[in-house]
Amino acid sequence: MSILAVQPSLASPAPSDRVAPDTAAGEESTAHPLAEVIGADLTVPLVHGGAARYVNLDYAASAPALRAVADRVAELLPLYSSVHRGAGYASAVCTSAYEAARAEIGRFVGARDDDVVILTRNTTDALNLLAAAVPGAAPGGVVHLDIEHHANLLPWQRLGSRVVQAGGTRAQTVAAVAAELAAAPAALLAVTGASNVTGECPPLAELTALAHRHGARIVVDGAQLVPHRRVSLAASGVDYLAFSGHKLYAPYGAGVLVGRRDWLESAPPYLAGGGAVREVRLGRTEWADAPARHEAGTPNVIGAVALAAACRTVAALGPDAVSAHERALLGRLTEGLAAIDGVRTFRLWPSASGGGGDDLDRIGVLTFTVDGYPAALVAQYLSAEHGVGVRDGRFCAHPLLARFAADGVTADGAGVRASLGLGSRAEDVDRLLAALASLRAHGPAWTYAAPEAGYVPVPDPRALPDWLASAAAGPAAPCSA
Ligand code: PMP
Repeated sequence: MSILAVQPSLASPAPSDRVAPDTAAGEESTAHPLAEVIGADLTVPLVHGGAARYVNLDYAASAPALRAVADRVAELLPLYSSVHRGAGYASAVCTSAYEAARAEIGRFVGARDDDVVILTRNTTDALNLLAAAVPGAAPGGVVHLDIEHHANLLPWQRLGSRVVQAGGTRAQTVAAVAAELAAAPAALLAVTGASNVTGECPPLAELTALAHRHGARIVVDGAQLVPHRRVSLAASGVDYLAFSGHKLYAPYGAGVLVGRRDWLESAPPYLAGGGAVREVRLGRTEWADAPARHEAGTPNVIGAVALAAACRTVAALGPDAVSAHERALLGRLTEGLAAIDGVRTFRLWPSASGGGGDDLDRIGVLTFTVDGYPAALVAQYLSAEHGVGVRDGRFCAHPLLARFAADGVTADGAGVRASLGLGSRAEDVDRLLAALASLRAHGPAWTYAAPEAGYVPVPDPRALPDWLASAAAGPAAPCSA
């Protein structure tokens, strides 16, 4: 493995790793997490030696479990048993818990009386399920934007979808979708609720009205939106909504598709197997109605109950508290990044104000580049030297990243994403900002591998946790694995 010539220029860890607790005045809403998450006090090793409190700025990929969710799972585990399959008391409890979870999740997203809540593995699974249910899915029957995550792009691409390039403003984007829907009828408009790259939210109310005006339905990829904003199917008129438990503080393997019954009722079962049937004879099967029709196999009751507990906890916080907490942190982050020379932030639709934290149509997700440093190196540096966890790369949104590359926002076609959530606090943002300022001022203080080796720190003395180290095969250079 060749070593990239990224030379250390500092002899010791940046002092920002050991910052004092927040004391800034006027920071009440951001100085503390809004809810207790598991792992909030996690300490991680640094390459220089020593350790730092882990700063999790990667909520958009997978959010930590809420304490309330983990507690509910712990309550359920002693009763864990089969769902819809057993006569024992524990089975009866699990069946009840599973169906109560379904109802709670439906309430959380304002499901209409006749909507179906189908429990899936995640958003990807939910959108693939819907793709198999679009009636008479002829080529061109689904329209979507080019900014989508692959989960909300590839299932439609397989059906021969039509792609609309998002415009330079929200209004231009709506106009482009309108033109496409006017050009030829579509069965479905698929759109993200919030970009997993820029955090910006397309204008859902206008797009929903537009789709309906043209006789199409709309599905919203809620993977990023639902953890940050309350969504109501009944109030918004959105036809289908997909989201993932692991991004909503319930990382136990469940996701959801919620929406209009008719398509789901007449679609072929998503998986063929036990639980999805009314009667099976050799050579002929009578399938069950939705949701059972699409939930063959043993259901993930732990995941469903965890997701419902997350919905309940988030709902109880109140929509204003969540968005106020996030807006304050996002403002701090946006302004802090703007103040660091050489940092560029990705924006689809820069607001007139320059994109400060006052823009309500953004969730706490933001992607940037640092001049002179590949995104992967920045991410490795933040983790290795500062204990800050972010994601880098193309974020399963290759067409969007290609656009940003063509616009010159990113030199290596990738970005660094920082994302916030209920456990985030002002100090987390400050740790990131201080680390980036130090990078720009001094460069990294460690040595990193070549691009083809992913810029991992070399050497990497950070040990795996004991319980894993003894089980892991191969060299104990853990974090590069
Ligand atoms: N859509 C968006 C906007 C996402 O951010 C993600 C996850 N990165 C997905 C869909 C896919 O979610 P999952 O991996 O949980 O299926």
